[in-house]
Amino acid sequence: MTETDTYKDKGARKLLVKELREKGIQDEQVLQAILKVPRHHFIHKDFRWHAYQDKAFPIGEGQTISQPYTVAYQTQLLHIEPNDKILEIGTGSGYQAAILMEMGAKLFSIERQEKLYLKTKKLLTKLGYTGTFILGDGSEGHKEGAPYDKIIVTAGAPKIPTSLLEQLKIGGILIIPVGDNKEQVMHTLIKKMDGSIENIALEKFRFVPLIGNQAW
Ligand code: SAH
Repeated sequence: MTETDTYKDKGARKLLVKELREKGIQDEQVLQAILKVPRHHFIHKDFRWHAYQDKAFPIGEGQTISQPYTVAYQTQLLHIEPNDKILEIGTGSGYQAAILMEMGAKLFSIERQEKLYLKTKKLLTKLGYTGTFILGDGSEGHKEGAPYDKIIVTAGAPKIPTSLLEQLKIGGILIIPVGDNKEQVMHTLIKKMDGSIENIALEKFRFVPLIGNQAW
């Protein structure tokens, strides 16, 4: 892993932002965060010069860093406001986590793979990101930090875990891809004033599986 952030990297990020705009990402705050966060720090050095392509890459343990378009798409749906308390399920490489913290979120992020949890916690701390990083099964949420303004799931779920809805504030938003092992549909769930849930189905994506008690 390289520690530097060169002009070449910065230039590549500008081009990536342009590409994401063309693909329909409009939220300026999200695009600014993508312009700032050095994605090349979050992937293996073998992919160093591919870091700003709009592609997913392996990060070890059979997992992947999500494609920038997917990260931007999910983040845009969260409608982040400064100091929002956000729970991310599936820390993985830490790239999505860094984007959320760059946007001023108070982040709790949970990962079930110990190796990834340890490596990513170290990296995010070194890059100066302060959040709460947790090792565990995020399909049950994280009660200690609840309730949350927003919850984002970055792995594909077979169904919507009820504990995640329980741990959401009134007016809160849950973003989760739901489907089978081949394809998932992105869902936005909003907890209304009366506690009922509005569920909106959006575009199709392909994620690694969410594994746990309320998952696969
Ligand atoms: N947000 C990540 C995406 C990583 S891929 C990034 O930006 O890189 C999804 C991650 O979810 C994997 O690291 C996988 O180990 C993790 N995961 C799967 N099921 C989980 C669960 N029940 N709880 C927490 N993490 C989980």
